[in-house]
Amino acid sequence: MQNFNTVKLLFLGTGSAYTLGGGNYQSNMLLQSPGGKNLLIDCGSDIRFSLYEQGLSYADIDAVYVSHLHADHIGGLEWLAINTLFDTKKKPQLFVHESLVNPLWNHSLAGGLTTLEDTVINLETYFDVKPIDQSLTFNWEGLDFEIVQTEHIHLHEGNMPSYGLILKGQDANYFITTDTQFTPERLMPFYEKATLVFHDCETSLKRTGCHAHYEDLITLIPEIKSKMWLYHYQTGALPDAEKAGFKGFLKKGASFNLTI
Ligand SMILES: [Zn+2]
Ligand SMILES: [Zn+2]
Repeated sequence: MQNFNTVKLLFLGTGSAYTLGGGNYQSNMLLQSPGGKNLLIDCGSDIRFSLYEQGLSYADIDAVYVSHLHADHIGGLEWLAINTLFDTKKKPQLFVHESLVNPLWNHSLAGGLTTLEDTVINLETYFDVKPIDQSLTFNWEGLDFEIVQTEHIHLHEGNMPSYGLILKGQDANYFITTDTQFTPERLMPFYEKATLVFHDCETSLKRTGCHAHYEDLITLIPEIKSKMWLYHYQTGALPDAEKAGFKGFLKKGASFNLTI
């Protein structure tokens, strides 16, 4: 049972974007507030399956946080939007960096969700949109969050960042990197402050260059590795992360009662 200052974090999946085989799902999580509300942390194209496996569905989702616009993080939003609008008739809150609000609709969701007659349709039709401004903070159900811009994809013009998520408590904070390259110079201050770090970790032989690779993360100092859990990895055999000083690789269904 949770007490008043405990937040439950459940990993619905711990795999990479195109994970297949091994029964894993994309790296989306569910965070349950002390009051029993559910915040989905990213909503990928696997989400209806990964929620179902935990005995959950769209009706259980009160809010969504979106880190960036890859399909393993937003590909399930059409499913969530259509089902909440027509079935539960409640609009989930949608927390997303303000720079992503228009691209999320115009580049990703409008094609599938422009399906209603007799009304102007936009992101607000389906969600209670809560853009995160340059303060890079938001509050949900009395919980304080900070978001952290990571380096994820370098483009010909500009970059496509992801926004990592920090749950801030009085004496503890928990850092979920979301998708990020290995950039200790950028992220070390956040590693140092964190009670636990949940880190994107690529394990493929061929590096994509878009994610922190295990062989990079292993070079971090022991003090950091000792509070770091690894996720967003490829299907297949995993190295012995505990022996290397990490907390380990997270498995689908892992859950934490986080003290805040
Ligand atoms: Zn991803
Ligand atoms: Zn990504």
